[in-house]
Amino acid sequence: MENIMTDSTWDYKECWEEALHQLQSEISEQEFVMWFKNIEYDESKENQIIVSVPSSFYKDQIIQRYQNKLEGKLFDLFGSKITINYKIRKKNQPIEETKEDTNPVVKKNQQHKREKLHPQLKKEYTFENFVIGENNSFAANAAYAIAKNPGSSYNPCLVYGGVGLGKTHLLQSIGNSVYAEFPKMNILYVPAETFINDFILSIRDKKIYQFKSRYRSVDLLLVDDIHFLQKKTETQEELFHTFNALYDSNKQMVFTCDRPVSELKELTDRLRSRFERGLNVDLQPPNFETRIAIVKKKVDGLRLSIPDDVIELIARNVTTNVRDLEKALTKLIAYADLVNKNITLEIAQRQLSDIFSNPIHKNITIDIIKRVTAEYFGLSYNDLQCKKRTKAIAFPRQLAMYLARELTEYSTTEIGVEFGGRDHTTVMHACQKIENNIKIDPTLEPTIQHLIRTIKDYKVKN
Ligand code: ADP
Ligand code: MG
Repeated sequence: MENIMTDSTWDYKECWEEALHQLQSEISEQEFVMWFKNIEYDESKENQIIVSVPSSFYKDQIIQRYQNKLEGKLFDLFGSKITINYKIRKKNQPIEETKEDTNPVVKKNQQHKREKLHPQLKKEYTFENFVIGENNSFAANAAYAIAKNPGSSYNPCLVYGGVGLGKTHLLQSIGNSVYAEFPKMNILYVPAETFINDFILSIRDKKIYQFKSRYRSVDLLLVDDIHFLQKKTETQEELFHTFNALYDSNKQMVFTCDRPVSELKELTDRLRSRFERGLNVDLQPPNFETRIAIVKKKVDGLRLSIPDDVIELIARNVTTNVRDLEKALTKLIAYADLVNKNITLEIAQRQLSDIFSNPIHKNITIDIIKRVTAEYFGLSYNDLQCKKRTKAIAFPRQLAMYLARELTEYSTTEIGVEFGGRDHTTVMHACQKIENNIKIDPTLEPTIQHLIRTIKDYKVKN
């Protein structure tokens, strides 16, 4: 093989491309786009290929998920070991994830390049104000990459996740950043409800032409909460055509949705396939460290001192989403203002006790978790508490235990009792196992989110 190279240069570019090509046929298109659209071959050195990636987050993820596979392929193709090394690309000024999930190390969002603020965007919704944790780093990186190169990478992009997890914030951050850095670009942010209303009014007032030209003349279209389009068949039709027109002229589109598009009902297949065409990324609830970082960031912004133990109290008790974290903080600050007192742990405990005692998951029972999980896996309710250990039963049972631990306040001992009198260490082991599996199996997290949604809906129905 050496003879394909001149003495001084090493060139494994073709091997790299072939290895990628092979990998592409082994994973889903979405997964491939997600991880490899933004990776670029850079150069070859003796026995190594250097590729460039937009951020260290990508690098870590690619190493964890694909390094062995790719190096295996390179070995087969080339006949000796070639190592892949990474370079973080400078030109996109990527977001670097920090170790403790704390501040977003985002370069200053140069808001002031344009004098005025964009009329539809909130000025606080910037990348700078968005705290990055492992729950949202992929979505944040994608959003950032889009803002730096609108229309060229990840088009369209769809960000999905539950209420209060930062969908609108991220979407508008893209808008604010593009507004500041690309003065010529025409940016339109609309909640899906506004799009629907505009469309209906334009028909009523016979101004459909104006409607069409308004939406089709933009360079960046940001549509928030597309789940509201369900059942609105005619509006869907119109958005479908808007989509095609913008897509064909390489205009960037970003959408948000409260669940994966595959779970939207009452959406035409052709529009669904358009949403699914580009990159779909999710936002998860923040973990404890990220919640601490978020509360700290909000407190910093207020120039007000709140003791660390109070911040920890809030982060520990409000686990649902960022909006609820903000609510708790706002309530506390309002109280302290009103009575003109410093906030102490005692005051915080007293003032927030109603918020803490009323988490939204309160009515979720282990019984519901078992029912939903059993049904999902086609098992009987009793399978989840029997002694059988076949894989087909053991895995769903472990998953149900994990969900019970995540969604209820029961201790591992209590959960063990509910699952056929098992020991608490068995429950701990089950939770650990699921957590490990989430890291290696990309399909597990979506399954878990689906189950959680079904469990919550179950609660409402019954
Ligand atoms: P969604 O649109 O998903 O319902 P929002 O974007 O409205 O959620 O976020 C709710 C609130 O939480 C907003 O005030 C937003 O600024 C804040 N928020 C959400 N995620 C973050 C984050 N990662 N860092 C800082 N603030 C956040
Ligand atoms: Mg929103």
